Amino acid sequence: MQALSADEIRRSFVNSSKSQVKAITMPAGLTELPWESLDFLGWRDAKAPARGYLVVPREDGVLGVALSTAATGKPRRGTGLCDVCHTAHQVTDVALFAARRAGTAGREGNTVGTYICADLACSLYVRGLRDPEVPQGETVSPQIRIERLGQRLETFLSRVLA
Ligand SMILES: [Zn+2]
Repeated sequence: MQALSADEIRRSFVNSSKSQVKAITMPAGLTELPWESLDFLGWRDAKAPARGYLVVPREDGVLGVALSTAATGKPRRGTGLCDVCHTAHQVTDVALFAARRAGTAGREGNTVGTYICADLACSLYVRGLRDPEVPQGETVSPQIRIERLGQRLETFLSRVLA
């Protein structure tokens, strides 16, 4: 994706109030991110770790979605799958994120939930630029994984926007 400025990122959010957008901590080193290897920009808020953000390039511009995740505190075992990139992780490295829906539905408290890599670095996993800790069942090429990631992400976004 194309590099974005902090202003462009802040303007992209569809499910946050103005004050929530103001409170977003931008990812560190914004200008040095490996933008060419990203299908979307995803990061956890350094000052509010239960918050995460996705900023996705689409045909009609970039779309930002604020997410929140609740830490259960309970030790969990086993493996889990990211719904966006289908990377298998230790269950603690995949998190259930909730996105407030855009518009009236969101203001009434409606959310959409999905499991995503806890570090929101799906783009790096599908390209083999970051290694998960568990062996992967997926054997298709990075190109196909990138395509499927885009489709699954679009499905999630359409649920947020619906
Ligand atoms: Zn993922």
